[in-house]
Amino acid sequence: MTRPPRRWRTEGIILRRRDFGERDLLLVLYTRQGKYTVRAPGARHPRSRRGPHLQPLHQVAVLLAHGRERPVLVEVETLRSWMVFREDVTRFTWAMYVSELTDRFVWEGEHYPGLYDLLRRTLDAIARHPQPDWPVHYYETHLLSRVGYHMELHHCVRCNRPIQAEDQFLSFQEGGVVCPSCASHATEHLLAVDVRTLKYLRHLQRSGPEAMWHPIPKQGVRARVARILQGYEQAILEQRLRSSRVLKQLGEFQPKSSPKSKTE
Ligand SMILES: [Zn+2]
Repeated sequence: MTRPPRRWRTEGIILRRRDFGERDLLLVLYTRQGKYTVRAPGARHPRSRRGPHLQPLHQVAVLLAHGRERPVLVEVETLRSWMVFREDVTRFTWAMYVSELTDRFVWEGEHYPGLYDLLRRTLDAIARHPQPDWPVHYYETHLLSRVGYHMELHHCVRCNRPIQAEDQFLSFQEGGVVCPSCASHATEHLLAVDVRTLKYLRHLQRSGPEAMWHPIPKQGVRARVARILQGYEQAILEQRLRSSRVLKQLGEFQPKSSPKSKTE
């Protein structure tokens, strides 16, 4: 096993920042090496030269050092800050949505090869795209697949038969398409999905990032794609929240550990 270096250089996108202690900041970064929360000592001091570099959605080059609880920021340089996000509230909102999704779906320390470049490329597309929601849907589709929630769009999740070119249904709980035959005796509510929307969802899934730019479907299809992806994301996050609550409740029955360790 190779030991990680005491200091290392990488680049990342700042997903989120929050105040920490009197003068420090905690930054959540998605870097080439994965997601890390790093401490930026003194970054909130009025004379700090770093402060202005440490804004959400900035692409930064950083030098990090191992700290006791988390990496510490030693040097930072802004590589890109996408001025347009300060001027265009729609683009800014989509960019923040992508940033928040990444933060919520990727755990601390997790690394998905290629995700950093995809995130960077998506932010760049949101900044310039005629319909900035479309690159967001491309990103959502690929983020979900990478983190283990690939949506099944080719076979029915109940009977496993190949999906035919006709209107279908979706189960967020089961993560994919339910054929009309299985849907006819389903007891719970399933979301109907038309052939055209399904075709675009599959296209996003199987295509490279050029699909952010071409073809761009009409507003109606984009809105239906958005509703499906957001519904699926919400279902996954709620499921996670429920299981973390269960874990927490189970934890209450565990013996209390002696002297509380110092936490941040
Ligand atoms: Zn079926």
